[in-house]
Amino acid sequence: MQADQVILAAPAQVVAGLFAELDAAAAYALGNIPAYPLSIVHTGYRREDVGNPLDGFGMLCPSREGRNVLGILWPSSLFAGRAPEGHVLMTTFVGGARAADLALLANAALIDLVVGEQQALLDVVADPVFTRVARWERAIPQYVAGHAARMGLLAHLEVQYPGLHFLGNYRDGVSVERCWHKGHELGATLPLTVQA
Ligand SMILES: Cc1cc2nc3c(=O)[nH]c(=O)nc-3n(C[C@H](O)[C@H](O)[C@H](O)COP(=O)(O)OP(=O)(O)OC[C@H]3O[C@@H](n4cnc5c(N)ncnc54)[C@H](O)[C@@H]3O)c2cc1C
Repeated sequence: MQADQVILAAPAQVVAGLFAELDAAAAYALGNIPAYPLSIVHTGYRREDVGNPLDGFGMLCPSREGRNVLGILWPSSLFAGRAPEGHVLMTTFVGGARAADLALLANAALIDLVVGEQQALLDVVADPVFTRVARWERAIPQYVAGHAARMGLLAHLEVQYPGLHFLGNYRDGVSVERCWHKGHELGATLPLTVQA
């Protein structure tokens, strides 16, 4: 298939594999942006088994606290329909750059770790009645020293090959909002025509 405009919007490592034949150095730079595993553990409790009122968005754990979790969100405090009546849902982040090994624990050990932290931090007094684990092997690209140089290589390729575009959370911001804006902005600049 031939196209005038090609937008590469997959994760960095995937994109690196797609254009490696065009520029091996730029592909290497993109493919080696550090990103660490992250596991998300959802735990549901009976409301009466959680002493903390969970009156807010959730909590983050700064590294100096030495906890085994990065943070705990309280989705049932934020949105309707996240837990059955009389129950609460917590979403806990484990791993990342700070503790990548913990993200790789087996499910049972991961849940034990999270429940232990919730008992210590949020006055949880019973086991959860619901658990679910989701994992990201390479969660969020880290903008470490040298990142601007990596991005410079991509910008150079875009000049060299007009119509080629790199878009994703490895460039100019990782948040959902930033990613949405970047896509919107790029789309607005392109002379796109749709052929039936
Ligand atoms: C656990 C977690 C929690 C987060 N929490 C927040 C938060 O609370 N707030 C916030 O703002 N951000 C959060 N982020 C960050 C944010 O979600 C991401 O940075 C952002 O969604 C990435 O958008 P993207 O378009 O770059 O990539 P994605 O949305 O991941 O899109 C990449 C696309 O490429 C596709 N793809 C993959 N491989 C291929 C292939 N070989 N060929 C074709 N397509 C492929 C995928 O299917 C996917 O659709 C979180 C990230 C994680 C991992």
